[in-house]
Amino acid sequence: MAANILIVEDEESILELIAINLHQSGFNPVRALSAEYAEKIISNTLPDLIILDWMLPGIDGIEFARRLKTNKETKSIPIIMLTAKSQEDNKVMGLEAGADDYMTKPFSPRELVARVKAVLRRKAPDLVNEPIESGHLFLDPSQHLLQSNKKTVTIGPTEFRLLHFLMKNPNIIFNRNQILDRVWGNKSEIDDRTVDVHIKRLRDCLKGTNDHNKIETVRGMGYRFNEN
Ligand code: CA
Repeated sequence: MAANILIVEDEESILELIAINLHQSGFNPVRALSAEYAEKIISNTLPDLIILDWMLPGIDGIEFARRLKTNKETKSIPIIMLTAKSQEDNKVMGLEAGADDYMTKPFSPRELVARVKAVLRRKAPDLVNEPIESGHLFLDPSQHLLQSNKKTVTIGPTEFRLLHFLMKNPNIIFNRNQILDRVWGNKSEIDDRTVDVHIKRLRDCLKGTNDHNKIETVRGMGYRFNEN
């Protein structure tokens, strides 16, 4: 699941530059040229992080950050503020309005992507799409790529997400409900036996590789990815 990053920026060239860099890093960029338009987007889908320009026509970035932070639904969405202003008091104002981080224009897009990853790692570690290696396995979420001993393994999207989650939390035992919450996103209509079905499919994918026994069943408790 690529993280949705909402970019609120009225300068189209900057908006596009940020969007392209985020996309190349495996994120899903969502574009808004004003806070008013961003509000509409947010009322449909909550983003995982917002990159928010300070100077916007209409509602400015500071006012918008305040609104987001006082709304129960949106207050936990991390915000990175962008601004051309570099004075220290403005920085304090941005942080007081609820921004989690702050970048001054002109900025390097690579640096911004690094900040996005750092904020997500802190706030929502499940959403950082960095490749993971364990033993012979290599999993790269941004390319939907799984390899064992450098050979590509064919794997379905659900099994991929499941393996990604388990690899990111090695040696920890998760019960079915915890796995449902974290991989399927708390959809109560899904039966917890679904987890067993996909664990079996995941093991089938790994059959014939050196990693065929990585997914362990812990009787009466759940499943875990055995890193050892
Ligand atoms: Ca602007």
